[in-house]
Amino acid sequence: MKKIAIVGGGAAGLAAAYRIQEEIQNKNAPCDCVLLEAGDNFGGKIRTERFDNFIVERGPDSFISQKPWGIELCHKLGLGDRLIGTKKEHSQTFVYTGGKMVPMPEGLSMMVPTKFLPFVFSPLFSWPGKIRMGLDLFIPRRADNGDESLASFVRRRLGQEALVKMAEPMLAGIYSADPETMSLQSTFPMFAQTEKKYRSLILGMLERKRQVMLSGKAPKPAKPGPDSLFVTLRDGLDSLVSAVIEKSPNVQFRKGQKLTGFAREGDQWKLSIEGGESITADAVIVALPANIASGLLQPCAPDVANRLEKIPYVSTAAVTLAYSRKDFSHPLRGFGFVVPRDEGLRITACTWTSSKYEERAPDDHVLMRCYVGGGVAQDADRLDESELEKIVRDDLLKSMNVRETPAFSKVYYNRKGNVQYQVGHSALIDSIDAGLQSHPGLFLAGSAYRGIGIPDCVLNGTRTAESALQYLSK
Ligand SMILES: Cc1cc2nc3c(=O)[nH]c(=O)nc-3n(C[C@H](O)[C@H](O)[C@H](O)COP(=O)(O)OP(=O)(O)OC[C@H]3O[C@@H](n4cnc5c(N)ncnc54)[C@H](O)[C@@H]3O)c2cc1C
Repeated sequence: MKKIAIVGGGAAGLAAAYRIQEEIQNKNAPCDCVLLEAGDNFGGKIRTERFDNFIVERGPDSFISQKPWGIELCHKLGLGDRLIGTKKEHSQTFVYTGGKMVPMPEGLSMMVPTKFLPFVFSPLFSWPGKIRMGLDLFIPRRADNGDESLASFVRRRLGQEALVKMAEPMLAGIYSADPETMSLQSTFPMFAQTEKKYRSLILGMLERKRQVMLSGKAPKPAKPGPDSLFVTLRDGLDSLVSAVIEKSPNVQFRKGQKLTGFAREGDQWKLSIEGGESITADAVIVALPANIASGLLQPCAPDVANRLEKIPYVSTAAVTLAYSRKDFSHPLRGFGFVVPRDEGLRITACTWTSSKYEERAPDDHVLMRCYVGGGVAQDADRLDESELEKIVRDDLLKSMNVRETPAFSKVYYNRKGNVQYQVGHSALIDSIDAGLQSHPGLFLAGSAYRGIGIPDCVLNGTRTAESALQYLSK
């Protein structure tokens, strides 16, 4: 029987395992499948802690519903009724600017104003800033089709103020990235496409709204799910991880199995595991962060490894704090706030978790999560837990006037854990794919390549599994 080995039990590796399980179950692919995970838990960045009626996410806390692959996987695994959206009341996000919390104006669609009045009356932007954003209506489209940075694009179309107050904290923030180096093509390709098609971002967004109105219906999600841009699982995101394992009886899931090397042996791949064991497989799906995969692949696929090495990673930390609701002075009416770089805070954003999602904290407590580090402030991993907690509490005092002592705080590091899609990323990934052609049976999956969010990793893992199965069937 042919054998597939998956290395890495994060979202991508698990999605690959589940796709292979489906094919084994449907008797389309008679093969053995083993997933090797170095850690004591499966899930990789997805990790949930539960205690005293708190549900605390160490990594991702939700995923976007517009990309259907995460929701689809939940439905296949029988988790459809466990999906929840964000709370309906107070769905406001704020920008901390000039020492104040200023609401994001209504009608901003991916940073482009599509409603005139809320934008015009918003105190978020100065009058010169608003006029500059409006010039998008007249600025010609870019002649060059090549990639550019998010900063260059936003500065060119909407001006510096839109970059500083919106694009950097909101959009680059999602990627923990520096907008000056971050690839537009690999992160927000729809902006470049809108400019190409409609010339102006504002005209493009208005045209899309008009088409939706004319067709008489809003675009429907591929599968029924909560009517919410962000969704999560009622019991925490790692219930996705346990469901994949539970529903994949034909896959062998092995934890505590750290890969130390790959070698080609005839038509097969030999995988060495820490402790001396080794296994062979006909196809191997390497679902590891690129900075780890590059080191492991260097001896057997140096061409691919050298290109993987060019994908940078930065460190971040997330600090979760819980407070007794009784004494908490801030009303937390909203989902949280983002912080532009020049506002003098070290936190980049804060999610008011208990206001955003149900059941994350018991009724008598509030829960918040603050983010430090990333592409523009790369020192999160050099600070110890007490320094990070102090930074966060100082910043919460300045921004929200939080003077209370937290019931608990928890610091989670992501040391070199945030992949950066820099200008030219897509061409780099194409060249990695081309390099893989010389290494039959070797496949790469994960957030390093064509999308970092959980739905992207699910899609990427699923497709990679299909390519590996196709390879085995030849
Ligand atoms: C702090 C943070 C917040 C995020 N928030 C969101 C969010 O809200 N929504 C969203 O959609 N996305 C979010 N993301 C992004 C998303 O969580 C990740 O991109 C995705 O989970 C990565 O999955 P992966 O399978 O590519 O890699 P990983 O999750 O990194 O999995 C790789 C696995 O490989 C294992 N491994 C490493 N070395 C070895 C070895 N030598 N041998 C065997 N196994 C090994 C690791 O232990 C790990 O389990 C967030 C990411 C971070 C860091």
